[in-house]
Amino acid sequence: MKKILVHICCAPDAVYFLKKLREDFPEADLIGFFYDPNIHPYEEYRLRLIETKRACKELGIPLLEGEYNLEDWLSSTVGLEKEPERGERCSVCFDIRLERSAQKAKELGCEAMTTTLLMSPKKSLKQLKESGEKTAKPYGIKFLTLDYRKGGGVQKMFELSKEFAFYQQDYCGCVHALFNQKQEEAVWDLVCYKGRRPGSKEERIFIKVLHLKARELNLPVFEEEFPFLNWKPLWGGIWVEGEAIPSYIVPYSQSIRGRLRADFQSQHKDTLYFNKQFLRIKLSDPFKDEPLEEISPLSSPTFIVPKEYENLLKENRVEAKLQVEFRPEKSSTLIVGSLKAKEFICLPADTLQDGRGISEEEALSILEDTVEDILRGKKALIVAGAHSLGKAGLRSLREKYGLSSGILELLYDGSHLFAQENSP
Ligand code: SF4
Repeated sequence: MKKILVHICCAPDAVYFLKKLREDFPEADLIGFFYDPNIHPYEEYRLRLIETKRACKELGIPLLEGEYNLEDWLSSTVGLEKEPERGERCSVCFDIRLERSAQKAKELGCEAMTTTLLMSPKKSLKQLKESGEKTAKPYGIKFLTLDYRKGGGVQKMFELSKEFAFYQQDYCGCVHALFNQKQEEAVWDLVCYKGRRPGSKEERIFIKVLHLKARELNLPVFEEEFPFLNWKPLWGGIWVEGEAIPSYIVPYSQSIRGRLRADFQSQHKDTLYFNKQFLRIKLSDPFKDEPLEEISPLSSPTFIVPKEYENLLKENRVEAKLQVEFRPEKSSTLIVGSLKAKEFICLPADTLQDGRGISEEEALSILEDTVEDILRGKKALIVAGAHSLGKAGLRSLREKYGLSSGILELLYDGSHLFAQENSP
C-alpha cells in the first residue's frame, strides 16, 4: 500500500494509532485528515485541531483540515438528538465524516483509508467497520478496520497522550453528547466571556497555540496542569435611581441575596462601605479591571466603579445584584526552555474581565524573538494559566520547582505591554 488517508478525530486517539499504523505499513505514506464538523462549540473544535496538529508534527505526518460545516452536520442529525452513544445518530455522524474522508482519499490518490475513531474505547468497532466500508467502496477505496485497542493498546494510548500533555476532552464531541454526558455541567462549555477567562477553553487554546509553536521551533517544552478554585461571575451590577453604573466585579466576591438596597456607611481611601451584606465599592480612576495579586479569604461582594460616581453613590440609596459561582477547575502552565534558565519571562495565558491581555500574535512574536536565548539556556518562557486570579499557575510552578532565578512578568496595561519583577 503506497498512500493511506487517516481520518483523525483528536490527538489522544491519534497518537498511538498513527504510531502503530506506521509500524504495520512501513512502506505507506500516511496523510492525516481532520474532518470533524460534529464538534461543538467551535472553541472545542479549535482545541482538538491544534492538538492534532501537534501530534502530527511530533510524528512527522502531514495533516489536512476539512471544512467545519457544523450546520450541515446538525441538519443531518435532526430527530436523533436523544439517541444514546453507539446509536443511530453516531452511525450518521460516522457516515458524514468517513464519506468526506473517502472523497478526500480519492482526490489524493490514496488506495486505503482508516480512522482514529477505531481507537476510542467508547465507539463500536462494528458500527465503524460498516460505516467505513459503505462510504469508501463507491470511491474504490479500501477501508482498514484496525483494532489497535487490543493487547493493552488503550492503556498505551493513555500513557502516550499523558506524556505529550495532550488536551483530554471529557465528552465525545457533538452538542448532544455534551449535554448527555455532562448534564447541567454542559452549560459551562457554552458560556462565553470577554477575552480568555481563567480555566476557559480560550485560555487553553492560547497555551496550546504556544505549545505547538514551540515544538515547531524545536524548543524543549513541558506543560503541567494544576487545580484551582475558579470564580465566575454570572450576572450583576450597580444601580442608582434605576440607572445602571458601569462596574467590574472584584474576583472572589460572593453572591448577593436577591436585589440589595443599601446606604453608604463609611469610606477608607478609595473604598466605600455600605450598610448591608458587606457590600463594597472601589472607586477607580482610570476605570479598569484589575488582576487579583493575592487570594484573600475575605469575599465581600465588591464592585469597581469610575471615581466620578463617588458623590452619587454616597448621597443615594444603591441597588446591587450579584450572582457568582465558585468551581474547582483546572488550568495549565507551559514552560518553554529549561527550569534552570538564568531568567524567566512570564506571559499570563488569561485576560482580565474587560478582555485586556496579551494577544496570540504578541505572544508568538515574543516566543520567536526569544528562541536563541532559550536554546542557550539564558532565558525560558512561562505561559501561566489563571494569572489574574492570584497568579495561580505561577504559584503552582514556584511551589513545585522552586525557580530561584528572576521572573519578569509581562503584563498588559490598556494599550501596551510592560514588565514587572515577580519575587517569590
Ligand atoms: S456522540 Fe460522538 S459519534 Fe455520536 S453523534 Fe455525537 S459526536 Fe458523533
